[in-house]
Order: sequence, then C-alpha cells, then structure tokens
Amino acid sequence: MEDCVFCKLINGKITVDPVYQDDDVFVIKDIAPKAPVHLLIMPKVHISNLDGVSDENSSLLSKIMFTAKKVANQMGISGKYKVTTNIGEMAGQTVFHMHFHLLGGWEKKDDVVSELKQ
Ligand code: 5GP
Ligand code: ZN
Repeated sequence: MEDCVFCKLINGKITVDPVYQDDDVFVIKDIAPKAPVHLLIMPKVHISNLDGVSDENSSLLSKIMFTAKKVANQMGISGKYKVTTNIGEMAGQTVFHMHFHLLGGWEKKDDVVSELKQ
C-alpha cells in the first residue's frame, strides 16, 4: 500500500531500526509510547485490521501472538504485559495496517491502570 506508513517502514522507504523481524512479522517501538515498553507487532503484508484477516492468511495471527510472547521475554517483561489491537476508528485505530500493541514494563500494579488511561 503506497500511502501506508507501516508499509513504508517495512519496505525501508522510511528508515527504522526494527526490534525484531523475520519473513512474515515486523516489530518496532511505538513512536508515542503509552507504557515503559510499547512495541508494535505487525505482519509484513498489508492487512487493514483483524477484520481483513481471511482463511488464507489467518496463520499470521498465531505467528504474531507467538512473536509477542518471544519479544516480551527478550524485553524482560514475561508474565506482566498486555497485547491489544484496535479494529476501526471507533475503537481507536489510527493506522490502518494491522498491528498489535505489546505494552508492559510497569513497576507497580497501579501504574498499569494510570498508564493506559486515555
Ligand atoms: P492505533 O491507534 O492504530 O491502534 O495505533 C497506532 C500506533 O502507531 C500509535 O500508538 C502511534 O503512536 C503509532 N505510530 C504512528 N505512526 C508511527 C510511526 O511512524 N512510527 C512508529 N514507530 N509508530 C507510529
Ligand atoms: Zn501497510
């Protein structure tokens, strides 16, 4: 997708240093972090959001979730993180290339709530 900012990052049209990537999945730091650790995990192929996933590409979902678990481990936040995705404007989606937020790194349980207040 020519005008998709995440496709531009994935294709190298905009420079970014990915936290992790393989043939299917791309992981970057969020530009405006809402938690001490805030990463975005996305497929390399352009899919607008979860509603755009089909039988043909649904295996990407397990790959993304398993990547979240592995990256959380690398970041030292195993057992204390969230994985979320927004589907559509009404749910707060602003970039229409499917991505999963990996959020964590809080010091105290109370911080989780305050950090995520919009
Ligand atoms: P959404 O609101 O669609 O669920 O999440 C989009 C996320 O992408 C936001 O948290 C926003 O900060 C992040 N974001 C938007 N543009 C860029 C960018 O160019 N680079 C990075 N690393 N993150 C971005
Ligand atoms: Zn895209």
